[in-house]
Amino acid sequence: MKRRPLIAGNWKMHKTSQETQEFIESFLSDVTKFSNCDVLLIPPFTSLDRAGRLLSESHVFLGAQDMHSEASGAYTGAISPGMLVACGCDFVLAGHSERRYVFGDSDDVVNRKLHAALENELRPILCVGETLDQRQADQTEVVLEDQLDGGLKGIDERMLADIVIAYEPVWAIGTGETATPEQAQAAIAFIRDWLEMHFNKPAAAAMRILYGGSVKPANARSLQSQPDIDGALIGGASLDPDSFAQIIAAAQSLQGVDDPC
Ligand code: PEP
Repeated sequence: MKRRPLIAGNWKMHKTSQETQEFIESFLSDVTKFSNCDVLLIPPFTSLDRAGRLLSESHVFLGAQDMHSEASGAYTGAISPGMLVACGCDFVLAGHSERRYVFGDSDDVVNRKLHAALENELRPILCVGETLDQRQADQTEVVLEDQLDGGLKGIDERMLADIVIAYEPVWAIGTGETATPEQAQAAIAFIRDWLEMHFNKPAAAAMRILYGGSVKPANARSLQSQPDIDGALIGGASLDPDSFAQIIAAAQSLQGVDDPC
């Protein structure tokens, strides 16, 4: 099955609202059409409202890096799903490894966020991936199974269609060390098999599964040419409009569109 690639830039704790505007203006003036792939920007919370206005007439989707699962309440410092929707968000990350390992998000918390996103018509991107120790101990598949089991609890086949999964080996995030295309393909094929076993073949075949971990213009094409990799979740290389555009162009060219977006 041919799946439409998704190229997502996760800016983490980078760029003020003004810097976000400068990026978007430069990016939109260079990159005008995405006929064959979806493009998503995920700036910090403080940039979302402005980014939502700037992107509203474009084909670029907007996402948030995290959210609380409750609609409102006494949760100092937290942001609700409804607040993200009001800024124009289409997507939200759930379970990024920095949320899991720095802020302590458990699979249960991630699962609640996933359900809350779907209830609010936000498309969640469930991030899964093993640490270096876990890979070296040959635990990659066990970790992925646990994170999928926990993260997708209570999700049925109909809901699955609105979810994206990102395989992000923790040892490759922000380290400059990228999984080889073969390692990324093997892990993502394992995830697709897991989905087939727990849902069904058409649902698994339709699911977009991204790779994330030090994706840059130099390795984007070889990663995305793998049969089960449906795009990229990009941190560092998405902060610069040119390198982000080059990664999008790699995805486009693999879809048979040669002009750079
Ligand atoms: C990420 O933020 O999800 C990520 C993969 O970061 P980087 O591309 O910098 O490794």
